[in-house]
Amino acid sequence: MAIIGIECSAHTFGVGVVKNGKILSNERRMYKISDKGMIPSKLADFHSEGAGTTIAAAIKNAGISTEEIEAVGYTKGPGLGASLRIGYLSAYTLSRKLGVPLIPVNHGIAHIEIAKRLNAMKNPVALYVSGGNSQILRMVEEPDRHYNIYGETYDIGVGNMLDSFARGAGLNPAWGSSVAKAAAGGRYIQLPYTVKGMDFTFTGLMTNALAKLKSEQLNDVCYSLQETAFSMLCEATERALLLTGSRELVLCGGVAQSARLKEMADAMAKPHNVKVGTLSDEYNADNGAMIGIVAERIFLSKSKIETGHEIDQRYRLDSVKVTWR
Ligand code: MG
Repeated sequence: MAIIGIECSAHTFGVGVVKNGKILSNERRMYKISDKGMIPSKLADFHSEGAGTTIAAAIKNAGISTEEIEAVGYTKGPGLGASLRIGYLSAYTLSRKLGVPLIPVNHGIAHIEIAKRLNAMKNPVALYVSGGNSQILRMVEEPDRHYNIYGETYDIGVGNMLDSFARGAGLNPAWGSSVAKAAAGGRYIQLPYTVKGMDFTFTGLMTNALAKLKSEQLNDVCYSLQETAFSMLCEATERALLLTGSRELVLCGGVAQSARLKEMADAMAKPHNVKVGTLSDEYNADNGAMIGIVAERIFLSKSKIETGHEIDQRYRLDSVKVTWR
């Protein structure tokens, strides 16, 4: 038995094949973001053009035949409508062709579940940080089994904030990793720090950092922007750890690729004897394997699969009833 997972919620078309929780293949094709950001019609064209070959490559590299595929998982949301639609149509077509069930998966839950699985952790607090999302979560059993959100961004995701800053600062490529590079040798200058309880906001910080570029050195602003944003995330995460009493933390999502964020999370967690689980960049980035991992667990749980809303751009992580163990 094998499950194929298709991820297409933003710039990446990812396809992974999973068998008994093991990742057999993980193929991906990424849209190049222009200085105008992601253009929906071009994104849709890009994903449609590459869908067939990426699916075929994932099946081939997994060393399985298509007859072995028992279900097709896909990203229902959250994400960009143009991308989600193409991912869904690809998954739907494949499932009809193979005559196997189609399983919708929440993108954020997939990021957390792959981090749990690959770090062999049972119920960690998760700091899920990406372009579109920034949340602190943990699975709870009451009133029913679901991921509870302890803290989250009030406005934009930390990754989106770093990318937008990079674009405004003229960094190329306009990504968070370019901000990290430009931060080398920087010194700290004060920027707005906004944590409210366990929630946080990023737009004021970004606007202020962009304005500071007129009077301050680029490396100082980049350094301070990272330090401020990541400290906010670590402070809120520390509260969630203490509140839940958890001794495990996973970092996941695209921004979890940041070496500085990992370093700061480690420094925060150590005095509390909290083990920090991380992932390789391949699995922090959007990928099909993570969708396959969750789809397999849903498939094995034999729970009734919700139908009716094939994609949902604002699919809330905490609205998902977790039916698997
Ligand atoms: Mg993601």
